[in-house]
Amino acid sequence: MIRIPVTPQELTRLIEREVPGWLERAARRTRQARQRKRFTGEGIWSEVKGVYMALQHHKCAYCERPMAEGSHANIEYDVEHFRPKSRVTPWPDAKTAKELRIRYKVRNGAAKGYPLLAHDPHNYVVTCKVCNSPLKADHFPIDGTPSEAGSDRAKLDADEKPLLLFPIGSTGSSPEELITFEGILPVPAKRSGHDRKRAQVTIDFFRLHLRTELRDARAHLLVMLWNNLERAQQGSSEQRQRARDVLVAARQNFFPHAACARAFLDLYARDPAKAEAYYLEAQRLMARKEPGLYKRGAAPRS
Ligand SMILES: [Zn+2]
Repeated sequence: MIRIPVTPQELTRLIEREVPGWLERAARRTRQARQRKRFTGEGIWSEVKGVYMALQHHKCAYCERPMAEGSHANIEYDVEHFRPKSRVTPWPDAKTAKELRIRYKVRNGAAKGYPLLAHDPHNYVVTCKVCNSPLKADHFPIDGTPSEAGSDRAKLDADEKPLLLFPIGSTGSSPEELITFEGILPVPAKRSGHDRKRAQVTIDFFRLHLRTELRDARAHLLVMLWNNLERAQQGSSEQRQRARDVLVAARQNFFPHAACARAFLDLYARDPAKAEAYYLEAQRLMARKEPGLYKRGAAPRS
């Protein structure tokens, strides 16, 4: 997970530019929710999905998977309410707690959800279907106490101490300060305290360390990076420059799994032997996955 650096003012400006009048219609719905004390009716958040898709460089906010771009891309993304709009269901259930060997204590957000944030654009990210539907669902694990602060997000955060990281914004801890990578595996960056717990809960909650599609993608990434680290040291100056261009690109926010790439490249700079050990693990994972596929070479049999 990486930070999506945008100020609240910039975010609302982007929304107004994309869908003029949306903010006013959203505010009207929030006033209705305040009167009725719950979320009712149809949501209009899908209309602004494109703003978040572009801001997030067409990647899932939570797992950093790359997703589609262009006119047919919408279908891949869900607009996810960080604080659920109409109810909060407890996490983890007994099966999940056992499976993930969870030993920490978790509380849960307001049981009736956060209807005043249903149309708050600062409560949205776009995510892949896996992160949103089966995993995030209506859960909202916290370390504090459920708050009735309504639409005051700063007070809600102070009261509730959310355990999931929220990547959009330019204040507070960046997700990468809290979650780093040991090779392909995400791990908490801090040794102890609330920030370590937030990292561990976020990793467990979205199963960032377990999902095959994420582990495979990171293994491919590490192999690609290692090959370019080697190429950057040998061959013609043009070949070396091409390899360096790829290494620079891999550090950018637009790159899939950029957090993993940055952690690996930083490790290589400080401890190349350890980076090589992670590369070899990744290479073995890749080669074991579908042995036939990688032995066949470039041309698939027809
Ligand atoms: Zn995802």
